[in-house]
Amino acid sequence: SKREGFATIPDVSWNDIGALENVRKELQVAIVEPITHPEKYAALGITSPSGVLLWGPPGCGKTLLAKAAAAESKANFISVKGPELLNKFVGESEAAVRRVFTRARSSVPCVIFFDELDALVPRRGEEGSEASSRVVNTLLTELDGLDDREGIYVIGATNRPDVIDDAMLRPGRLGTRLFVDLPGANERAEILRALVRGRPIASLEKVDDIARGCEGFSGADLKALLRAAGESAILREASSVDEHDFEYARGKVAGSVGNMDKYYR
Ligand code: ATP
Repeated sequence: SKREGFATIPDVSWNDIGALENVRKELQVAIVEPITHPEKYAALGITSPSGVLLWGPPGCGKTLLAKAAAAESKANFISVKGPELLNKFVGESEAAVRRVFTRARSSVPCVIFFDELDALVPRRGEEGSEASSRVVNTLLTELDGLDDREGIYVIGATNRPDVIDDAMLRPGRLGTRLFVDLPGANERAEILRALVRGRPIASLEKVDDIARGCEGFSGADLKALLRAAGESAILREASSVDEHDFEYARGKVAGSVGNMDKYYR
């Protein structure tokens, strides 16, 4: 298994992602094209990389999108979770942030993915945020120091964009904010189709109906549903998953996102 913070080219593509077409297009122009065709951007006078913030409810594909953007660019991918960089010792968190960028510089082109970014860079000036304000400043310095020829691109992800320090979201930093929404009925069908691709499934039309009926499910919930359906097929000693397996799975798996109100500002 891959170590956290280790640079490798991920093994996913846009095709592994169901729905989210607009977000994929935005990532294509913000990350993939600048890495694969830098001359196009230079010709238009675009000289600094555009960082991206992916935000929205859990399990809806933020990590998957970031990995696919790196893979489609044939770029290395460094993934770090915000809380893991936090350290109670003075200066340690800042050093950890700088180390991430040093590591990226030795494996360009590279996409750095900061998951749970809100934990790392909460708004400064609030009580008890003195330590985090140094971390925010360190990350801002690193972001401002990137230029296009360096080949380092940053994607952040959060469920709570409202608590991230505003300075992070200015143009030239994580200036492109993309909402990764909970899928609707047809999008769930597209996601489940992406998840079952290449697997033995009795009827794809039935799969569409099942997905449409899974109100409130995230992509991660659909993945859990598929797993439970697969287990049902194994219990029956069947070699493919059919609608009865999905019915059984529906009894075991529920949507996990809950009230979406908190994700709309
Ligand atoms: P979190 O906020 O909890 O980190 P996330 O938004 O980063 O969640 P992912 O980790 O990308 O969510 O999604 C979890 C898993 O759910 C993925 O590995 C994938 O299997 C599945 N999944 C989610 N969304 C999609 C999608 N649009 N298409 C295909 N699979 C998806």
